[in-house]
Amino acid sequence: MTTGQPLIQAKGLVKRFGDFVAVDGIDVEVQAGEAFGFLGPNGAGKSSTMRMIGCVSPPTDGELRILGLDPRREGPAIRGQLGVCPQLDNLDPELTVRENLTTYARYFGIPRRVARRRADELLDFVQLTERADHKVEPLSGGMKRRLTIARALVNEPRMVLLDEPTTGLDPQARHLVWERLFRLKQQGVTLVLTTHYMDEAEQLCDRLVVMDGGRIVAEGAPRDLITRYSTREVVELRFSTESQQDFAGKLAGLGERIEVLPDRILLYVPDGDAAVAQVHERALRPEGVLVRRSSLEDVFLHLTGRTLIE
Ligand code: ADP
Ligand code: MG
Repeated sequence: MTTGQPLIQAKGLVKRFGDFVAVDGIDVEVQAGEAFGFLGPNGAGKSSTMRMIGCVSPPTDGELRILGLDPRREGPAIRGQLGVCPQLDNLDPELTVRENLTTYARYFGIPRRVARRRADELLDFVQLTERADHKVEPLSGGMKRRLTIARALVNEPRMVLLDEPTTGLDPQARHLVWERLFRLKQQGVTLVLTTHYMDEAEQLCDRLVVMDGGRIVAEGAPRDLITRYSTREVVELRFSTESQQDFAGKLAGLGERIEVLPDRILLYVPDGDAAVAQVHERALRPEGVLVRRSSLEDVFLHLTGRTLIE
């Protein structure tokens, strides 16, 4: 991570829609070369934030500088140096795969010949070369997303904004997108992404903020957040015969924290196997036992009392 001028500098950033506060005074700094994430459930204010960063939605209040420039006055100059992959694909279904890139390149004043060469390189990068002359419409969701990512790279942006890059994709398609994004990150491209998938945030982000209800509730590297807000391991217990709450009482004193969810009890402990042994010593016989490492999902649960995907 370099410590030059931040590419994103937000202070007290607010977005209101009428009386409704979608983004409630957030502070964010993103440095060149970082992969930075906004993690939060639906409605947290991630897209509203991204749209302000992408200079397509003016901030209601607060300070915002993108690439050192003021989005209120220098929107076009900023947008020319950004790559944007919106939450919903907005490819042109009338055009072929390659034309979607070359046409987009024209908005940036990129000469036709350069655009053509860049389009072919990018199609190779997102593994769509064979589809170059096909129309967009029959492409799978994963292919469309990869094409949208390629399109976001046409102007050789300093920073790429990705709003929920893998939402709606099947696991295989997700992994392919992750792999390409990881490659971009290795090339030094600054990535800013939103997601409600904790595994995506853990895989891709050097640093992230956890958002809920328009506010930032935590900030840090994924591992650091887990260390700060959770234990090393989690024991998931499923009981069937009695209500979970009764069992929760009988588990008192085991672990640093207990979360009772509708379908399972989470026991936050340093050592999962040792805790399972203690559960058995109390003559409790759960139907299901799973010992796992803590994740960002546990961080979110601890901070908000809710799960990320409800
Ligand atoms: P996320 O991307 O985290 O799901 P959004 O930024 O899309 O969250 O939305 C945050 C909140 O703001 C939601 O409650 C949403 O309904 C509301 N919202 C978003 N866009 C608008 C809009 N154009 N008009 C009114 N309310 C909006
Ligand atoms: Mg969104």
